Amino acid sequence: MEKGIQVLDNDKGFFLMCEGGKIDWACHANAAASTIHDTLALADAVQVAIDFAKTHADETLILVTGGH
Ligand SMILES: [Zn+2]
Repeated sequence: MEKGIQVLDNDKGFFLMCEGGKIDWACHANAAASTIHDTLALADAVQVAIDFAKTHADETLILVTGGH
């Protein structure tokens, strides 16, 4: 997330979608360790977005949703 924001941030704004795609795969495979690891990684990524939003409060929207 940090690199994405760093690359995309500009005066005109940007859209960034970040997917924790392996979480679904790991859940279907009953891979608990991967599920937990990737869920925590997604949480870390969302925290980076939240930190960015704190300094761009009037122009930032963060949506977090599940696919299932
Ligand atoms: Zn699924």
